[in-house]
Amino acid sequence: MGANRAAPWPAVFLDRDGVINRNIFNPATGSCEAPLTAAEFALAPGAAQALHQLQSAGYLLFVVSNQPNYAKGKSSLKDLAAIDQKMRRELASSDVVLSGVYYCLHHPEYTGPCACRKPSPYFPLRAIRKFRLDPKRSWMIGDRKTDILCGRSAGVRTIFISEDLHDTDADLTAPNLLVAANQILAPQQQSSPANARVSSSTLRNPDSRSFASYHSCGV
Ligand SMILES: [Mg+2]
Ligand SMILES: [Zn+2]
Repeated sequence: MGANRAAPWPAVFLDRDGVINRNIFNPATGSCEAPLTAAEFALAPGAAQALHQLQSAGYLLFVVSNQPNYAKGKSSLKDLAAIDQKMRRELASSDVVLSGVYYCLHHPEYTGPCACRKPSPYFPLRAIRKFRLDPKRSWMIGDRKTDILCGRSAGVRTIFISEDLHDTDADLTAPNLLVAANQILAPQQQSSPANARVSSSTLRNPDSRSFASYHSCGV
């Protein structure tokens, strides 16, 4: 790595919760939320395979995640570290190595404004500089509008993870990370209207829907 590298590398920036791992349904709030403990952390189906395919194709992998639960008093730093270690360990068992993992631990209501919370492109821009990445060949994948805004501000293309085809400014939409990886790796198939119709009907297929629902924690 470093100065003698011939060309800037492409990268994939990944939101974590709802993309790499399943969100957890919280009955108290009625919403899908980040895991609070390592025991609650589980990789999303196909996620390790997706990341392995991207890595094998030469993409450097970075996680960019807002983790406000410590600021909110809902998670300890120890729990957040244990979740991070479990993610790296489980990905490593599929030979997936993350080049960088960036967490914003702030929340404006609890810790005041910060530079790094998505939709700020702070972390992707830092990685682009540090690792000499090529934004034009890089991607951001996330399941929230803020992920897409972050990617666009960083000058990379974007994929919105959603089981429904609703309004998004993202370049592409995919029901899960594995489909997103295949869209990145098979660019000849990604932009034709015919293919968009195929993925739309696939989403209405009950089997594919139950697979996708892992990512929205089934509600
Ligand atoms: Mg998310
Ligand atoms: Zn921050």
